[in-house]
Amino acid sequence: MNAIVITIGDEILMGQILDTNSRYIAGRLTEIGVEVTEMLSVPDRREEIYNTVDYAMGEADLIIVTGGLGPTKDDVTKKVLAEYFGMRLTLHEQAMRWLEELLQHRNLPMNEANRTQAYLPEGCRVLRNEKGTAPGMWFEKGWKSLISLPGVPFEMEHLMDKCVIPELKAKHPGLLLEYRMLKVYDVPESQLAEHLSAWESSLQEGLKLAYLPSPGLVRLRVTAKGEAVKHLDEAYESLKAVLAGMKYTEGDDAIEKQLGELLKKQGATVATAESCTGGEIAHLITSVPGSSAYFKGTVVAYHNEVKERVLGVDAEVLEREGAVSDPVVLQMAEGVRRLMGTDYAVATSGVAGPDGGTPEKPVGTVWIGVATPTGSYARRFGFSFTRERNIAKAAAKAIEMVMEAVREAPRQ
Ligand code: ATP
Ligand code: MG
Repeated sequence: MNAIVITIGDEILMGQILDTNSRYIAGRLTEIGVEVTEMLSVPDRREEIYNTVDYAMGEADLIIVTGGLGPTKDDVTKKVLAEYFGMRLTLHEQAMRWLEELLQHRNLPMNEANRTQAYLPEGCRVLRNEKGTAPGMWFEKGWKSLISLPGVPFEMEHLMDKCVIPELKAKHPGLLLEYRMLKVYDVPESQLAEHLSAWESSLQEGLKLAYLPSPGLVRLRVTAKGEAVKHLDEAYESLKAVLAGMKYTEGDDAIEKQLGELLKKQGATVATAESCTGGEIAHLITSVPGSSAYFKGTVVAYHNEVKERVLGVDAEVLEREGAVSDPVVLQMAEGVRRLMGTDYAVATSGVAGPDGGTPEKPVGTVWIGVATPTGSYARRFGFSFTRERNIAKAAAKAIEMVMEAVREAPRQ
């Protein structure tokens, strides 16, 4: 089964917003085994919407449309779809009640503009939107479906998750697809591909390996379709065996979430001392719900004075070695571990750029230090990106290093 995603909105074509809806929809469809063959964006104009819908209905089994369902004049999607499927717009009593409920809940009066949102193409299936005023619409023509969803991302996501995906799964049980993911660190994609090539060729029909590289790590996804689903676990286990000796984590959770799981399991705590990352590590860690169970806090020790006075870094060492150095990050990590009374601590100091580089310490040089109950150590990295990316990379590496330390810690 293939699908085309159509996003509607002048804002997308004028470059004012990024079309994140297509990515979300494609991700969710891929997960259930629907292949997205095209993504198209068109302005809020009758002609273009009509022609694109007509084209997509010829090319795909499933079409998902977002945007242009609002009550304003520029939102024309509903009218064009009614015209395309030869349906009249009539008052949908139930949609009117949903609308009244929603407005009441938000303490807003019903107005004429809202009222028009309960007028829907007679003959389509109306999907309740609990997060907004525009309902979704499911049209069928022969074996093909066209589903129209609101443009506002969280409303669209709500309808996809609550309604579209479960119904597609129920309607097409043969589609089912399952996968397992893991992340391999510090091995270039090409080298990994070479290492896995024999394993990959031995995969049986219906099983597939995909490489999804990003800086510093490669995500591997093993997918099984149809009958092959029952061999997925076995294939996944054999993949792990082939990866033995490499650094990898299972699943597709963000590393900050994986770190949290590990720390919770050990009942251990962590703190951070951040110079070049300016709080980014703490931000990542605290973006995970429940992180207060294992994260105590951070010191953004940007200025040397703070490194000295708050973290107790030796002024002489700072003077002699410079802030971006092995002994300084070690003292920062140990200092914050002592200060906050945690089991683990991690510290960063580096040259994020674009200025401040020297021949010995070019832009992108970052020292990361980890302090643990049994000792501390530091590593030097040479990132060579923009300031933003250097900070992001350093923060990700810092979390990885703590994770390694926690994983290797002797179990109590
Ligand atoms: P509304 O009732 O809010 O008017 P709508 O269904 O008419 O909803 P649009 O007017 O097309 O949707 O878009 C509403 C807002 O949703 C846009 O201003 C934009 O911020 C966001 N949006 C729309 N389409 C997309 C998209 N493809 N990707 C990301 N955001 C989008
Ligand atoms: Mg709108």
